[in-house]
Amino acid sequence: MCISRITGHRQTKSFIQDRIPQKECQQKTETKWNLRTEWSPKMDLNEKIEKILEKVQKAPRYTGGEMNTTVKKWEECPLHFGFCFPDTYEVGMSHLGMKILYGLINREKWSLCERFFMPWTDMISLMEEEDLPLLSMESRHPLNAFDVVGFTLQYEMSFSNILAMLKMGGVPVESKDRNENDPIVVAGGPCAFNPEPLADFIDAFMIGDGEDVMTELNRVILERKEKGLSRETCLKNLAKLEGVYVPALYNVEYLEDGKIASVKPNCPEAPESVRKRVVTDLNNTYYPEELPVPYTEIVFDRIMLEIMRGCTRGCRFCQAGILYRPVRERSMEKLLDLAEKLQRSTGYEEISLSSLSSGDYSCLPELIRELMKRMKDKRVSISLPSLRIDSVLKESLEETQQVKKTSLTFAPEAGTQRMRDVINKGVTEEDLLEKVKDAFEGGWSSVKLYFMSGLPTETTEDLDGIADLARKVIAEYFNVPKTQRAKGLRVTVSVSVFVPKPFTPFQWAAQDTVETVIRKQEHLKEVLNIKGVTFHWHEPYVSFLEACFARGDRRMGAVLKRAWEKGCILDGWNETFRFETWMEAFRECGIDPSFYANRKRDKDEILPWDHIDCGVTKAFLWHEKEKSERAETTKDCRKGCNGCGLQRWKGVCTYANAGRI
Ligand code: SF4
Repeated sequence: MCISRITGHRQTKSFIQDRIPQKECQQKTETKWNLRTEWSPKMDLNEKIEKILEKVQKAPRYTGGEMNTTVKKWEECPLHFGFCFPDTYEVGMSHLGMKILYGLINREKWSLCERFFMPWTDMISLMEEEDLPLLSMESRHPLNAFDVVGFTLQYEMSFSNILAMLKMGGVPVESKDRNENDPIVVAGGPCAFNPEPLADFIDAFMIGDGEDVMTELNRVILERKEKGLSRETCLKNLAKLEGVYVPALYNVEYLEDGKIASVKPNCPEAPESVRKRVVTDLNNTYYPEELPVPYTEIVFDRIMLEIMRGCTRGCRFCQAGILYRPVRERSMEKLLDLAEKLQRSTGYEEISLSSLSSGDYSCLPELIRELMKRMKDKRVSISLPSLRIDSVLKESLEETQQVKKTSLTFAPEAGTQRMRDVINKGVTEEDLLEKVKDAFEGGWSSVKLYFMSGLPTETTEDLDGIADLARKVIAEYFNVPKTQRAKGLRVTVSVSVFVPKPFTPFQWAAQDTVETVIRKQEHLKEVLNIKGVTFHWHEPYVSFLEACFARGDRRMGAVLKRAWEKGCILDGWNETFRFETWMEAFRECGIDPSFYANRKRDKDEILPWDHIDCGVTKAFLWHEKEKSERAETTKDCRKGCNGCGLQRWKGVCTYANAGRI
């Protein structure tokens, strides 16, 4: 069969066959296949894969072989790393972190990295029918043939997919059931900062920036393999690495009221507190010069150029703003060099300048100007995905617009100034309207406005403020002379449900109940019934579950397992999310979800993530919480250090160390 019919690209059957080391795969499965005993070494893997690819909805999700992917010889690499993105191919392939670590691991002679994604439901059924395990995109080895299985934890709603992928890949789902032949299962990413809900399933978590710790971790696991060390010894060795948390080496005690009494290490190798890893010099840190280019449409199909890491603004709802501190910039020279190499190696026609707050990059206009100069002939456009209102420079807008006009996104987050001060957004209505005016005068006609509802201290007035702001934005458009403005005004107002997250000043806050969220959304639908405005809102049930996991403890692991056993997977997708089944799982485990989502915490309560050290102190976060209650703002720490706690770590934060305290 020619699979070009499916992929839309010229790939043939032999292309797939060449990349299936069938003999080896069979040998591995004979010794390591634990759960699927029915897997036969005599099976015709090629035939089965072909049969499935003919029937499945989107075959390019599973074919592999994309440009710039790496297929190393299995037997020549002593260490095999299976990198799992616990969501579909389209989502996973849009994630920059995965591409960085994929390149980083494959760069080492002694290690290979292959990708795994969560199959869609149609593929899962077909795999079951054909008795196929979860296979890697590159060499088609099953997950349990790898020495390390690594998950990236980007959002809580992907947790059930982790269990599903382990099971489909023949890896025992719970750490306690893994034996000496099983892979070490690791995880990193923002959700690893509260690792407790996944403590039963993940052997070791990497906390913080992954670039340095990834290689160190792989070396420890390679040592296990080469010296035949026990799983227990290997885990203890991993716990000695800075930034690695091994949950099995900690005991958690609970009080009668369900709160945590203590979290204590149970062996000398495990530190009392696990300090996050920080890469201090981005210019000398690995960044891929080639990115895999998918054969199918994905969520972000463009070059992602990370211009800086971290954010100094201090928005009080924003977890990433705390977790990724301090701010570190890549130099302009480095970025220009990377942009050219990446464009050449991928052929992409769009470069996205990515970071938490790209408008804050210190040489943004110069960078855009120089990029435009170098890319203009190639018709490559430059986009800025994350602009803050007060940092959108008119000049930058004009520069980026030269090649392609896209919709402009602003995130005022709240409708009134009082509420923007509560969350320390640090922008005013005048800021927004001025920038919107600049955009309309510059020929833009499509604006997206992002808000949150359910923030602490929110009132009806704050909700009405969202509609007022949308009206004022429309008025700005009509203030621009007809001859100067572009046709087709579009204002999209998107309101998400606030989810209190660990390591933020709102980590002690209660989330609105689902009923309150629905009531507020009904109110917003009424007040936003404005000509020219499209209103989008978020599913309240998903946000509720997200809140349970975001601030969950180890006991949430039982709920997760129960829900997955009852069929919950792909929870981030409307068509597969089963809220009622989740609630049944909570009931069957005797756990009240509102204990996690809708409860205020006291100052002295031990929080499930207190033994993880993200650099910012609990005292600073509490101080910020108190300021928020008085609607007092805190300045951007580039203007002077606010003493968040990172200043204690020598040489880590340039702004603190510049003596601006
Ligand atoms: S140490 Fe100071 S300058 Fe650095 S991130 Fe914290 S508050 Fe900002």
